[in-house]
Amino acid sequence: MLPDVLIPQARLATRITELATEIRAAVPDDHIHFVCVLKGAFLFLADLVRVMDERVTMDFIAVSSYGAGTRSSGEVRLVKDVDASLEGRHVVIVEDIVDTGLTLHYLQDILRRRGPASLRTACLLSKPSRRKIDVRVEFIGFTIEDRFVVGYGLDYAEQYRNLPYVGVMP
Ligand code: 5GP
Repeated sequence: MLPDVLIPQARLATRITELATEIRAAVPDDHIHFVCVLKGAFLFLADLVRVMDERVTMDFIAVSSYGAGTRSSGEVRLVKDVDASLEGRHVVIVEDIVDTGLTLHYLQDILRRRGPASLRTACLLSKPSRRKIDVRVEFIGFTIEDRFVVGYGLDYAEQYRNLPYVGVMP
């Protein structure tokens, strides 16, 4: 059975275009270096960079949180590092969802130590009611309630990432 639609494709597209404008206005340079957090943010990144015409480069990082199922245990491990140096670059982390905030807190911490000229974070979704740690996210697409979402990059047991909308299991 397919998940129910929570955020339809058209609303995602509109909001992502707005986010691109927000990012463009905030980053004080004509070159933005995106660091996409695999795997969940791959569609968000793909759509975001296609509505930006400035000089854009991108790299990919992967983390995993220990624990299975729909709740993370809070322990984060670096699975794949970025390829290129972040030194002197205006970096924007691109993440699918901020839930407890532990993943982003870890990522911001390790990337800040690489000497970027600036470091900001764009998250498609945020579940503020679940936050365990105060983490700064400059660009948020949608604030949602505490529901487990899938689609548009987000999975349940590796399924549903290809859905063009954000959905919830019925
Ligand atoms: P945090 O460290 O903020 O608790 O969790 C961040 C990660 O947990 C996200 O990058 C995502 O992989 C996963 N996650 C949190 N909430 C959801 C959700 O509702 N659906 C899915 N598919 N993954 C989630």
